[in-house]
Amino acid sequence: MAQVQVLDFPELITVWKQYTFEPPMICLSRTLPLLFLTVPALGQKYPNDQAITPDRLHAHLEYVASDEMGGRDTPSLGLDLTSKYLATQLNLWGAKPGGDGGSFFQKIKLVKNRPAAPGDTTTEGVTWTQNVVAIIPGTDPKLAKEYVAFGAHSDHIGTRKSGDGDRIYNGADDDGSGTVAILEIAHAFLTGKRPKRSLIFVWHCGEEKGLWGSKHFVDNPTVPLKDIVAQLNIDMIGRSKKSDDTNPANKVLTGPHEIYVVGSTKMSTDLQRVSEAVNKSFLKLAFNYKYDDPKDTENIFYRSDHYNYAAKGIPIIFYFDGVHEDYHRPGDEVSKIDFEKMAKVTRTVYATGWTIANLDKRPVVDKPLGQ
Ligand SMILES: [Zn+2]
Repeated sequence: MAQVQVLDFPELITVWKQYTFEPPMICLSRTLPLLFLTVPALGQKYPNDQAITPDRLHAHLEYVASDEMGGRDTPSLGLDLTSKYLATQLNLWGAKPGGDGGSFFQKIKLVKNRPAAPGDTTTEGVTWTQNVVAIIPGTDPKLAKEYVAFGAHSDHIGTRKSGDGDRIYNGADDDGSGTVAILEIAHAFLTGKRPKRSLIFVWHCGEEKGLWGSKHFVDNPTVPLKDIVAQLNIDMIGRSKKSDDTNPANKVLTGPHEIYVVGSTKMSTDLQRVSEAVNKSFLKLAFNYKYDDPKDTENIFYRSDHYNYAAKGIPIIFYFDGVHEDYHRPGDEVSKIDFEKMAKVTRTVYATGWTIANLDKRPVVDKPLGQ
């Protein structure tokens, strides 16, 4: 594990200036308090990032993406068992339940396999599924009323109904990687120093069906949406492209020390600055902004759960490794996961969350969506 290089002040200013999107000096005067807040955080290693290891991530993923989970369709027994696994771990580590009625589950009613309309009283063809929600209270009497949100989706696309060979869509990368990454981020905060703001973790169901779980959460938030200062979303961070890989299906897959960072440049200059400064002073991953290009034809910004938070005015950062040869195929297995990469990205998201949760001022949304 490379030693973190601590940037001294002049060097930090150089780094900082590279990422100032609106140069006027006033910006600097507003940035300085932010700058000083982050410098101390940057000066010292993050409190507990080292608790996040490839082995721990691997251990959880062996369960979450196992054949027994049957591809975690929404709704399904596999998804229920995965949700139970998450709640059991969180309870063990002392997280506060953030779901319905003091539980870790936010129940969602489905009628004929579609989310029921608010107030729907149907009893026929009703099934239930759930988001998993956990809270870690902050330490500052004032700032603890605000939240940094972490998100992933615990569901995937289930099992192929017919055909020979492997029919289970294990979803190890999509989104088993994000599911266990934010679990380990919660563990790192629960077993280490707590930040000033509170933290909320949401494992969304029904993402593959159309962002159902995140839509339900932002329409029925268990904490006031206005108090969520940013949302950090992870969906697929476990695969990496090898240098000799010529498979066209892996054309846009990121390398072992690279990750797509989506949405951080879209809504909040403050958030983008924090994201860049943390990375530059920590693991120095190659942040690829390809999908923040307004001309992006893949519409990646709209295709995972962070979008429902962004649509409510919450600034987001989405971490994504790129589609690959096993995307939505039975071959998306644990055996193909690059756990070293996954741990680096997870630690970077932890460090970014820690820094946002300790800012004096919440990131300003100076570029609201659609404006
Ligand atoms: Zn996904």
